Amino acid sequence: MSSPHMSGKEQKYIEEAFETNWIAPLGQHVNAFEQEVAAYAGVKGAVALSSGTAALHLALRLAGVGAGDRVFCSSLTFVASANAVLYQGGEPVLIDSEPGSWNMSPAALKRAYLQAREKGCLPKAVLAVNLYGQSADYDPILELSEQHGVPVIEDAAESLGATYKGKASGSWGKFGIFSFNGNKIITTSGGGMLVSDDLEAMDKARFWATQARDTARHYQHSELGYNYRLSNVLAGIGRGQLEVLDRRVEARRAVFQRYYEAFSGVEGIEFMPEAGFGRSTRWLTALTVDPEKCGVGRDELIDALERENIEARPVWKPMHLQPLFEGYEYFPHDSVHSVSDGLFARGLCLPSGSNLTEEDQARVIETVRRCLDAPA
Ligand SMILES: *Cc1c(COP(=O)(O)O)cnc(C)c1O
Repeated sequence: MSSPHMSGKEQKYIEEAFETNWIAPLGQHVNAFEQEVAAYAGVKGAVALSSGTAALHLALRLAGVGAGDRVFCSSLTFVASANAVLYQGGEPVLIDSEPGSWNMSPAALKRAYLQAREKGCLPKAVLAVNLYGQSADYDPILELSEQHGVPVIEDAAESLGATYKGKASGSWGKFGIFSFNGNKIITTSGGGMLVSDDLEAMDKARFWATQARDTARHYQHSELGYNYRLSNVLAGIGRGQLEVLDRRVEARRAVFQRYYEAFSGVEGIEFMPEAGFGRSTRWLTALTVDPEKCGVGRDELIDALERENIEARPVWKPMHLQPLFEGYEYFPHDSVHSVSDGLFARGLCLPSGSNLTEEDQARVIETVRRCLDAPA
């Protein structure tokens, strides 16, 4: 669906790491990669980490989330977002999506804040996720959160390269996180980045990520730490990938455009909307299939593609429907209507890699078309 796409530029950085023997979670590439990602996102500081999940964990700890603390978290997301809340012993309060962007519903967030204020149990942080390459609507999310003095963490694992109101995705929260996992828009095979304008907080995160070693010749520890740093070799891959990020965004958008041209006229198929407030990378092309209008459902399309050896997946299963998060509070978009339930029931992600050839994409389109029995 979204495979690694090397540019060839990575090799020279890897060779440099080998030649200088900096095969360690330290070195020039790590420092340079941090600076380059910070510059790209328009933030003051960045910390390169072993995964996006590690970055989420550190962001939540920096926000002061501890045992029993509540965190308002997008429900429609990959499990890593909500897991990080549990790592800190926190309690996720799950927030529905809005139909216009599929991301955190400001209306649901507002009701969650109202109830929390009444009960006197405000959250320690808000964890908003940018799905499938598109930013959430940060103006209302930040405004509501500032009113209550609550920091916002931006899970931009899927939206590196996107913008919100002209400014980089990942730069809107107090802390932002990116992922360089193998399926993301650029990859280091595995890796992540924590970004913020708060340089003191970034130093703290760097300290925790290297086992929290106090400044002393002997091994001295006063705080709990982790082994979360990114290796210098992988940071080298990241530097080569970052050079071509903007090209990768254009390629993903072109893939989306071809699907759009093929299926936007089909009754019962609706593409994930691109909200007017931002520019999506279209990391994955996502759409919904109405079985009544299409005659076939999402799962039949996935089966048909699988028979052709083509990978497609349902939209993320929301966290409030996951056994792991049973019993946690959930705020739907409005009091009767859960948007993410509908997106999960009908949502489909199609192969969207920047290295997907037009021939291969034509094969995907043909297979879907045959299944829909729509005229070619
Ligand atoms: C991929 C992803 C993560 C986790 O990133 P890793 O680098 O795989 O740990 C977190 N949140 C979202 C929304 C993701 O898609």
